Amino acid sequence: PAAGGEVLVVDGVVKRFGGLVAVNQVGFELRAGEILGLIGPNGAGKSTLFNLVCGTATADAGRIRFLGQDIAGLPARRIAARGIARTFQHVRLRPTMTLLENVMLGAHLRARAGLLRGALRLDRAEERAIRAEAMRQLRRVGLDPNPHELAGNLPLGQQRILEVARALAADPLLIILDEPAAGLRRLEKQKLAELLRALRAEGMTILLVEHDMEFVMGLVDRIVVMEFGTRIAEGPPASIRADARVQEAYLGG
Ligand code: ADP
Ligand code: MG
Repeated sequence: PAAGGEVLVVDGVVKRFGGLVAVNQVGFELRAGEILGLIGPNGAGKSTLFNLVCGTATADAGRIRFLGQDIAGLPARRIAARGIARTFQHVRLRPTMTLLENVMLGAHLRARAGLLRGALRLDRAEERAIRAEAMRQLRRVGLDPNPHELAGNLPLGQQRILEVARALAADPLLIILDEPAAGLRRLEKQKLAELLRALRAEGMTILLVEHDMEFVMGLVDRIVVMEFGTRIAEGPPASIRADARVQEAYLGG
């Protein structure tokens, strides 16, 4: 999509767990080349909403449109194949595999999606192409100096960046990240923010689900705030920072 074009539209989405309404009629839009922050105190429903977009959970009501097509209810694999890549709130790398191998897993995802031609086994040329693509993504995020290091040996900040590289290897149009700054040191957060800014400058569209309000404020174009499953505010960082209801939600939460 052209810069500013519609990428993701979430409209009136509802998700219940028994009697609990974890996401209650929430909606927002995400445009190409934009970083949207989705914030809120613990239990607000951020991860649930995130899972609805990725297809790891199914909404009880509402619509989710990606590039103009309805994706609500599609299995996660099909949504990923359409160009939404994700990172996890708790890092899900393979610690005993190398950086390169971890990113290759992400590239395989795309290769497999393209394998409707019928080949189940990757031939050597494809394997080489995947390896080259993974190296390219490691360079893109600045983790190329030691591609054969084990992922488990990296400090948490670099593991998070490696997860972004793995997501990028699937060649997504939209990346969604669940609390990527959690547990990171100040300098690690700065590095991560730098990377996300660089990706935006390349035209990537990013949905950032984050508890760390300061991390979000300096980075995103627009913010949606959730509390108890509902959207309580939306706007640019400055207006969100000044919003009394948002301040209350964070102090109370
Ligand atoms: P956040 O990511 O904003 O901290 P969550 O989306 O994880 O919030 O949770 C929102 C609410 O839904 C919480 O009250 C949580 O306990 C509840 N919840 C989340 N997942 C489940 C589940 N699988 N089963 C039951 N309740 C859940
Ligand atoms: Mg969460």
